[in-house]
Amino acid sequence: MPSPPVVRSVADLRATLAGWRGEGLSIAFVPTMGALHEGHLSLVRLGLSRCDRVVASIFVNPTQFGPSEDLAAYPRDEAGDAGKLSVAGCHLLFAPSAAEMYPPGAATVVTVSGVSEPLDGQARPGHFAGVATVVAKLLNQVRPDVAIFGEKDYQQLQVIRRLAIDLDLGVEILGAPTARAADGLALSSRNAYLTEDERRRAPELAAALADAVLALRAGVPVAEAEAQALGRVQAAGFGPVDYLEVRDAGDLSRMGPGPLPPGRAGRILAAARLGRARLIDNMAI
Ligand code: AMP
Repeated sequence: MPSPPVVRSVADLRATLAGWRGEGLSIAFVPTMGALHEGHLSLVRLGLSRCDRVVASIFVNPTQFGPSEDLAAYPRDEAGDAGKLSVAGCHLLFAPSAAEMYPPGAATVVTVSGVSEPLDGQARPGHFAGVATVVAKLLNQVRPDVAIFGEKDYQQLQVIRRLAIDLDLGVEILGAPTARAADGLALSSRNAYLTEDERRRAPELAAALADAVLALRAGVPVAEAEAQALGRVQAAGFGPVDYLEVRDAGDLSRMGPGPLPPGRAGRILAAARLGRARLIDNMAI
């Protein structure tokens, strides 16, 4: 199957999209940083089920990486990605350069307070400002009917939902379930950093969260369920653990330390380092 057409400038992107809109076609958008796996492709397929056309973007956004993070090492494979997108049925790939996204003089930063402050907001200062800024730009560039983000990055999804409401972006933000390997590990481009031995231990993060969910549903106090899951993750050789916490599923405010109040949606979220990789995962309670 031929790869989807690639556009690299906002002007070329808009020209193609204007043609589609002129034909009355609806547009779904899937932003990514490339190194695509089945999780990304499930987002493309969800887009196809909802809209006439699916646009994916690949942009390793420098402003969402901290100075000591893995920007330079982040896996890149545009040709391989284009092949996968074409098999999944994607219609257009937007792959801008950093200069196209941030021309000289760029001075606007979008910050979302509240939901972007705890968890990765603490562990990765500036990360969500980088994410919110690039996503606001991409959504303005594409102006899709629907934009699809993975629950794998649950806090990011909640930050983007808030952003879309607050800036009246007029786009439906759709969350897609986390795609996992057969052993439960959440698929991630960063799993490529794991050694064979680390890869064998990595599913313990998902297993610990899944057991915590069962315990919480059975009425075990939040503090106890968190401590048990943390111990299990540390015993599997993870460390340091940036957070492993039960939070409100909507605004990510703290829940606990007692049992979850009935009727309130909770989410358990964790981030922990395993060797060179920083893995994140989360589950609905
Ligand atoms: P990334 O390229 O890692 O920035 O991710 C691009 C999009 O794919 C984001 O909306 C992610 O949440 C989503 N995504 C990444 N991994 C998964 C996964 N395992 N399952 C579902 N969505 C994912």
